[in-house]
Amino acid sequence: MARESDEKHFDALAGMRLGSTIAARQLKYSLFLAVVLGLVIVAIRGYQDYLWLEGVYQQSNQRIFSSSAPVATEVMIKRDRELADIMARGMLNNRSIARVMLTNANDGIFFELKRPAGEIPVSRWAEKMFGGLQTITVPVRDPERKPVATIGEMVIELNPQVYVNAYMTRLSWSFLATMILAAVMALCFAAMSYFVFSRPVIRLGNYIVNANPTDDSRPLQMPPEHRHDDEVQLLGSVTVGLFGMIRKQVGELRRARDELQNANITLEERVAQRTEELNSAMQKLEVLASTDPLTGLPNRRAFLGRLEDAVAVWRRRDTPVSFILLDIDRFKALNDTYGHQAGDAVLVALADTLRTTLRSIDIPARMGGEEFAVLLPGEELQGAMILAERLRKGLEQNSVEYGGSKLSFTSSFGVSGLPSAKGLAEFDQDVAVQFDVLRNSESTDIPGILYSLADRALYDAKAAGRNQCKLADFSRLSEFKDQLPSDI
Ligand code: GH3
Ligand code: MG
Ligand code: MG
Repeated sequence: MARESDEKHFDALAGMRLGSTIAARQLKYSLFLAVVLGLVIVAIRGYQDYLWLEGVYQQSNQRIFSSSAPVATEVMIKRDRELADIMARGMLNNRSIARVMLTNANDGIFFELKRPAGEIPVSRWAEKMFGGLQTITVPVRDPERKPVATIGEMVIELNPQVYVNAYMTRLSWSFLATMILAAVMALCFAAMSYFVFSRPVIRLGNYIVNANPTDDSRPLQMPPEHRHDDEVQLLGSVTVGLFGMIRKQVGELRRARDELQNANITLEERVAQRTEELNSAMQKLEVLASTDPLTGLPNRRAFLGRLEDAVAVWRRRDTPVSFILLDIDRFKALNDTYGHQAGDAVLVALADTLRTTLRSIDIPARMGGEEFAVLLPGEELQGAMILAERLRKGLEQNSVEYGGSKLSFTSSFGVSGLPSAKGLAEFDQDVAVQFDVLRNSESTDIPGILYSLADRALYDAKAAGRNQCKLADFSRLSEFKDQLPSDI
């Protein structure tokens, strides 16, 4: 089965921003640390350089002072301006000396030479570093006079600007070199960190994302090759182990799910089969419970049920319903003469006659013994009487062959029913009122009343000599008052 991951290789981790890798963070931190450390080194080196340069500056000044002092004495003794000029020019060769002046003992200026303004511009730093802009006064004494007498002063103005410049240049280079070194070191650390850690971990991440351990259609992939036995290697091994466990667990879950599904299917099939069996058994039972076993006709229970339905339709839609109750005449004598089985044959033949002569919507039934009934839905009483008469004649003319003999029999009929409003016009006003009472009384046992009326008519037919049809006497409806609700 082709999985989606076969076509698509996720490279989510490799695509992550380089700036968010550990290597990038390492670069940031080590750069910061290197810069701080570099600044400290620059500060210490700078301070040492300053002390060293200051020493050089002072030694150089001392040398000039001491070498020029005898010349100054000679100048002042001889009052030799030419010599003074040579001396001063020699001194000004030293670029940290800005002015040389010789004064007389009475403070008058004997000679003065200064560096042209602007030749060495003086910065703010020169005023503060290396003692600043100093003026040194060296007394000039005549050693030949006794006691030694001061004959003038040599005044020297110092400007350390050239030393400041040298120092600043040195400091700048030192700073630049240190910072470059710091940056290179930080980059080296970051690269190391990237190759040692970030890249292997990203590769491992890609492997994890794409491994798909639940797809058991192909073997479990191994993590990317890593040549060092370090934490990344360990992480890879742990991941493979974990994937193995996942695959095993998923396999077990799949098997359990399949078994459960199979069990479910079997169970559903068995439940469906049992339900079908149960339904068919219930249907058979229903048929058995509502069918007469000898004739195959609906039994009394089924018939009364249909009668109740027909009564409900009459009540709501004014559809008439009639029914015929019939009983074989002197059946006991037939049984006694020809035997019980002959009697049964007669019962079966009667049932067949009912089935073949009636309309499809009419419902014949065996009520018990040799008593039958026919329900005629939608039929007015007059029609039912005509049908009963036709049945009576048919049965009278019919004979049943049994054991070589032809068995003839007659039947008596009682007809009852519920006429529609139209059919009721045939009846007396009193009877019509009684039917209306029946129609409006929900709780009255109308099927029971109808049955009693038909039974009485049947009894009347028997009493009148048998083999005849009688319509129920509906004027006797009021006799069934005890079957009506008390308020009617
Ligand atoms: P009547 O004209 O007044 O109806 O007389 P009868 O003899 O038909 O009525 P009676 O109630 O006296 O007798 C009914 C007989 O029907 C009695 C019984 O033996 C018989 N019988 C009832 N059920 C069956 C049956 O299933 N098969 C047979 N063969 N006979 C039955
Ligand atoms: Mg009978
Ligand atoms: Mg009977």
